[in-house]
This record gives sequence, structure tokens and C-alpha cells, in this order.
Amino acid sequence: ASAELFALREAHLAGPQKNYYETPPQMERGWKEHMFDVEGRAYLDMLNNVTILGHGHPRLAEAISEQWLRLNTNSRFHYTAIAEFSERLASLAPEGLEAVFLVNSGSEANDLALRLAWAHTGAKPMLSLLEAYHGWSVASDAVSTSIADNPQALTTRPDWVHAVLSPNTYRGAFRGSESTTGYLDAVVEVLEAIDAKGEGLAGFIAEPVYGNAGGISLPDGFLAAVYGQIRARGGVCIADEVQVGYGRLGHHFWGFEQQGAIPDIITIAKGMGDGHPLGAVITTRAIAGSLEKEGYFFSSTGGSPVSCVAGMTVLDIMADERLQENARDVGDHLKGRLVALIERHPIVGAVHGMGLYLGLELVRDRTTLEPATEETAAICSRLLDLGILVQPTGDHLNVLKIKPPLCLTVDSADFFVDMLEKVLSEGW
Ligand code: PMP
Repeated sequence: ASAELFALREAHLAGPQKNYYETPPQMERGWKEHMFDVEGRAYLDMLNNVTILGHGHPRLAEAISEQWLRLNTNSRFHYTAIAEFSERLASLAPEGLEAVFLVNSGSEANDLALRLAWAHTGAKPMLSLLEAYHGWSVASDAVSTSIADNPQALTTRPDWVHAVLSPNTYRGAFRGSESTTGYLDAVVEVLEAIDAKGEGLAGFIAEPVYGNAGGISLPDGFLAAVYGQIRARGGVCIADEVQVGYGRLGHHFWGFEQQGAIPDIITIAKGMGDGHPLGAVITTRAIAGSLEKEGYFFSSTGGSPVSCVAGMTVLDIMADERLQENARDVGDHLKGRLVALIERHPIVGAVHGMGLYLGLELVRDRTTLEPATEETAAICSRLLDLGILVQPTGDHLNVLKIKPPLCLTVDSADFFVDMLEKVLSEGW
């Protein structure tokens, strides 16, 4: 039955919507940090950075269905949930960021953020980092420079996108003690070239902890210094918190807190709806208001009563179940155990990130940092055999992306490391 169903999918679903696995398990059910296939086999989900509460949370399901039965309409009507949810989102953001747009996904949130930057500054040039992913829609894709996600990424950028050197502290051009200065000089060089054209500057978009590159922390002070350079030129600073924000770092609610920098626009999605489509842009009244030149903003389902109730229930459950604190504590434990693998297994080059936003970088040689790309793919498929879902990320697809639900237990974290160590001991 499973093979037939898979053939049906392959026959009718558009090809570019790829599977993680060549012969994927057919998933039927999810509970907390596990998914179960049709044969009842359990898989530990170390990969799903959308389900922050864990799969199948009954309280969220009840809240959504209750609101669905009561009322679901659009944001051009007035109802309780939209007022309360936008107030709650604004209260999570730094002072001054108090205007909320509600959309359905991270790509939409980033597209809207770029439009806001253009409308506010009247300029088009935008800076983004190499190795970045910001979405699949036209503008968010234009600032996505990751060649792992799109091999054409660097040859098909529109003129308004200026990609700057990846400030990858592990394998970037300026590793070591001078890292911030080197990467900052590279940014200033690009900005001066933009200045010379006299077309102004719309702004800068980046993840405050570099998720797509594998959860890499930016060099100390990098974000604040770049924000300073951007603002000195009248540009707007966009923090893409779609993956990193909302408590996943454990030690911080927002990624930009880790860098001591405050953005002008925050974009969020993924976990904020725990899988219910939900995204948002939080910005200043002045920046939000600049879109009025273009008319009004409307999304047919963004900010619907059901979406807002889903969003508020996620926040309530996160607080009641202390999920950010759990991400911090279990994340610290997990990171400690992963770091210990470095000593025992030469292929483990480094462990990046914090909380439950981690990346385990696999290399063939710790001096040259030659990426262990094929090995990483093979390790992921061995881990599937052992009941663990994890996938490669980074431009070289040699970083295990470890972003489980925030309800991950210490026992599940230990099971993951034990199985990983078993696979690493098979010799690579
Ligand atoms: N920004 C970042 C950092 C992301 O990781 C993603 C999704 N992987 C997006 C934006 C796009 O979000 P969505 O898939 O919801 O459109």
C-alpha cells in the first residue's frame, strides 16, 4: 500500500517538492518529539523546527477547532483575537517595534519586510549575506544566496541584491581573532560601492544566528556594527527570526539579543503557529505607515481568528510548559554531549549554535575543513534506520541540522547522541 501511495505522490506532486529520503517512511501520527509511520515505528524528530510545542498538542488542537466552529473570517473585520494577538506580539518585541502585520509564512513575512524597506527609504539596493536562506517567494528568494538550496543562487541575483561575504566564524575567510574586523571591512567595501552609485540604500536582511549555514554564531559585535553602517546610510535593518527566534535559542527569545543588536523590522513564522500557517512582521509605526503610499495591506487568511487563536495558544503553552527554559536546559545538555564527540571522532569538526538550534559540522580534515558531504548524507540515512530524523544543511550539506521540538526530553537527547555515536563508530 505504501509503495502505491508513494507512486501516486510521485506521479502527481510537482517534482521540485522533494522528499528528505529516497524511500521515505509513510508518516501517520505525531506525538511530542516523535512521529510514527504506518507500521507503528517511532522516529525521533530532531529536524522539525516548525512544531515547537511537539507534535499533536491537544490543547492547541482544541483551541483551533473551537475557534474554527465559532468564527473564522479575515482581518478586515474586527474581532477579539486579532487585537489581543497583535498586542501580545508587539509586547514581545523591543520598545518601539509596535506595528504588527499578520501573514501566513516566513517567505511572505520576508517579502513584506523587503517591500517595507523599499517603501520607507525610497531606495532599492539591499544587502544580504552569502550562505543565507530567506524564502521561496520572488523577493525573499532574491536575497537567498544559499547554493545548497538553489545551485543558481549566485548567478541569478537581481541587480538590487548585494551579497556580502559570509561571516562564518568556522570556515569563513577571516577565521580567528580578527574575524569581526575582516567581515566588517568586507561589508563596508560593498556599502561604499553602493554609495558610489548614488541610488541610496534600502537596508540589510540577515538571520541573527546563521541558521542556514548550520547555526553559526556571527562574529561578536558583527550585527550591531553592520546595523550602525546601514542606519548611517538611511537603510533599514531586518532580522529574519523565522527559524532562530521565538525561544529556540533557549538563552534568548530573539536571535538578535545574542548579538546585542536591535533591528527595525522583525520577521517570524514557523514555530509561532506550531505548524498552523502563521507569519508576522513587527516594525515601527513609521516604517509600517510607509506602505500606505501603496494603498492598504491585506492577506486573505493572514491574521484570521483561527490563526490568531493558534498563535496565542502557542504562546500560552510555551509559558505554561516552560518550553524556552527547556530548550535552554536540554539544549545545554545536548550541546555538551555533542561537543564531547569532537575528541572521539575526527569527522566531527565543530558544534555550532545554542539551545535547540544546533549544527554538527562534519569534515574530512580538521585543518583544511574539507566538508564531509557524502558522509553526512550517509550518516543521515543510517540514523533513519535507527529511528532518527535529521538532515544536512549548509552550503556544503555537511552540517547535521539539529532543531527538534522545544519539548525534547533529556532522555530523547541522549538517545539521539547514543545513536549518532553508534553510527560514527562504524568508521567514516
Ligand atoms: N527564513 C528562514 C531563516 C527560514 O529558515 C525559512 C524556512 N526554511 C524561511 C525564511 C521561509 O519560511 P517559509 O518556508 O515559511 O516560507
